[in-house]
Amino acid sequence: MRFERKRLPEGKHSLAPAFDSTLSHQLCWFSSAFRRGLRDSGRASWVVAVALSLQFAIQGCATHGSDFARHGGDLTRAKDRVAELLSRAIQIETPNPPGDEKPLAVYFSKTLRNAGIETRVVDTPSGDSKIGRAAVWGVVRGSGERRPIVLLSHLDVVPADPDAWQNDPFAGVRDGDYVMGRGSIDAKGISVTHLLTLIELAKREAPLKRDVIFLATPGEESGGAEGAGYVTRERPDLLGDAEYLLTEGGGILIRGSDNPTLWRVAVVEKSPCWIRVVAHGTPGHSSVPPLDAAVPRLIAALERVGRIESSIRVVPEVAQMYRALAKLAPPDDAAGYADLHHYLTEDPAFRDRFMTLRFQAALVTNTLTVTVLEGSSRTNVLPPEAVAHIDARLLPGESCERFTQRVEEAIADPGISTEELLSFETRSSSADTPLFAAIEAIAAKSDPPAHVVPSVSIGFSDAHYFRDVGVTSYGFTPRAMRREDYSGVHGHNERADVGSIAAAVTTLIEILEELDRRD
Ligand SMILES: [Zn+2]
Repeated sequence: MRFERKRLPEGKHSLAPAFDSTLSHQLCWFSSAFRRGLRDSGRASWVVAVALSLQFAIQGCATHGSDFARHGGDLTRAKDRVAELLSRAIQIETPNPPGDEKPLAVYFSKTLRNAGIETRVVDTPSGDSKIGRAAVWGVVRGSGERRPIVLLSHLDVVPADPDAWQNDPFAGVRDGDYVMGRGSIDAKGISVTHLLTLIELAKREAPLKRDVIFLATPGEESGGAEGAGYVTRERPDLLGDAEYLLTEGGGILIRGSDNPTLWRVAVVEKSPCWIRVVAHGTPGHSSVPPLDAAVPRLIAALERVGRIESSIRVVPEVAQMYRALAKLAPPDDAAGYADLHHYLTEDPAFRDRFMTLRFQAALVTNTLTVTVLEGSSRTNVLPPEAVAHIDARLLPGESCERFTQRVEEAIADPGISTEELLSFETRSSSADTPLFAAIEAIAAKSDPPAHVVPSVSIGFSDAHYFRDVGVTSYGFTPRAMRREDYSGVHGHNERADVGSIAAAVTTLIEILEELDRRD
């Protein structure tokens, strides 16, 4: 593959063409900021004359103000704008640990400010970061008739091994319609979608009824306690009594020409229950093994833990999800989807078909996986401790404390201790809201009409922090992807289709405008 590189002022490389900052664009920004000032002050007659003299600029905005419009927008320019922002966001490296998200927060904040949008960089606890950690916040004010909606993403990414990638994972290289790099999907592509949505909304003549808040936080990949958790705990003022929030965890799934496109809107997540298991034993030289050596003790305990059975349980949110999928199910499964609990209990053939697919089994059972193992670093040395980490994912409504007790009962060894590393209980958000109805309305208008499914997410995001403080939160970004597009997430060669991000901006604006009509 051949890539044409272009030097950026910062000394990084990108294929993204420079954003067209012609005089008329600048006039657009100026005039939109000017109109907002006029609206806010509601006086100062002298400015009317100036406003009239800017009429040309305002009319100019109406004709080319949005490259993200469904009709009449310049798609090539919209894609270039997406690629420019996304490449730069990837180049500002934020692998967690340690995160170092502050420079990216500053970049996003500057981008919002350049578009005349009120914004702030919010320092958060820095942990091991020498560079600093921060969240970035911005708002396009509405008329205040309704409570705000938050567009949430995260600034950090998981680390990437450059040797396993085709290109430097932090170069943000553009290849045709794709930008490659760590975070291009998870979640810098979402940040860019939200950023451009605010920039487009700021150009509107009439405000929406709600404030639309941009929020991108650090530390999501390590649990979010010092990122989104910090914001909800210490800076609730930034949320402004928000009613709704949209974040990662769902999206538009393209399933080939024979199957309707699905819009998956996550209303709840499974809850993580991470447990550290420590086996204690007599240390020393391994030529004379003691009966209580730590490593064999741990292995025996994990073997018992592995036999813990999880019974099948259909929580209401999973039942709701499969009811919505019933009309799309293969004929043999339609009745089972419509009444999942009954068929999983009573129809062994259906149960076998359903449970064979691992992601389906994970929706109706608790799962348990041993991930970390630590013993001695030397072949002939007995360590005093052997350690394992268990990543359990519990169905909504289950408690990690009770699950840990079950693990301890299975281990049944006083020489082994357990400790909870991470856990939270999950709440769900209702699918019976004007926002959900607005998403359904826009899905119905898409060509061909798409099918909306209130879904349950197997993984977790920062949404739970916001559900805990009463914000109706959906895992949904209206970006169209195929199943195979997700393979790079947390893996190698992660890449995002800039056209799908440009389209997501358009769709998100349509959803917000539809919500506004319903409010
Ligand atoms: Zn993510």
